[in-house]
Amino acid sequence: MIQLKNSSQISAMIDAGRITGEALLVARESVREGMSTKELDSIIRAYIEKCGAKPSFLGYNGFPGSACISINDEVIHGIPSEKRIFREGDLVKVDVGAFYRGFHGDSARTIPVGKVSDEAKRLTEVTRNSFFAGVEAFKSGNRIGDIGNAIQTVVENGGFSVVKRYIGHGIGKDLHESPEVPNFGTAGRGARLCVGMALAIEPMVNVGACDVYELSDGWTVKTRDKTLSAHYENTVVLTSEGTVITTLVDKDW
Ligand code: MG
Ligand code: MG
Repeated sequence: MIQLKNSSQISAMIDAGRITGEALLVARESVREGMSTKELDSIIRAYIEKCGAKPSFLGYNGFPGSACISINDEVIHGIPSEKRIFREGDLVKVDVGAFYRGFHGDSARTIPVGKVSDEAKRLTEVTRNSFFAGVEAFKSGNRIGDIGNAIQTVVENGGFSVVKRYIGHGIGKDLHESPEVPNFGTAGRGARLCVGMALAIEPMVNVGACDVYELSDGWTVKTRDKTLSAHYENTVVLTSEGTVITTLVDKDW
């Protein structure tokens, strides 16, 4: 069942979203060559806790980190580790959640370490653009399939592929709520969108094929063909005045 949010719940979601978005800004400022993913995770956790919030991912189904940090051909759910060190040219996906005033924010960005390839830059840009195309389609009367179709169109026109095995989701008091929000689909299909819905819209985009697999660590998801992957996610609420992207702190990022 889809949990619609009233205005006081939306105000709490905006606060949780802001902290989530700020934690990603801190991550962007912190990432550098030679740093471990564990070190970055600790910085993110410290920021969230300093704000009086809780990292949504810590302990979620046993996840040991506060952020998922995935490098290059890792798509999502990378486990922070002292052994994973950022190298010049890496494409890093940081996915963060903060729980505050009873609600979650969930957001991800793709961050370059130093100078990355032109392909990595274009992948990052197309992934971000596809998110905003999805948000354009998030309006009353439209359906879930309109969001996925808009995302998929931008990604495929860019010559890349969307991951189909992992998808976006409703969000609120729980990190993952109904409905499912695929990054692909048929316009006009699926649940109808209405005011009060809160969604984590999160395209995961591969340079090569859409096929992915999970490592034996039970978390890390990688591209099957070892090509680069990018991720861009925000928590978005549909209000009577339109969409509010709660986790978007830097409008240009
Ligand atoms: Mg996320
Ligand atoms: Mg999510």
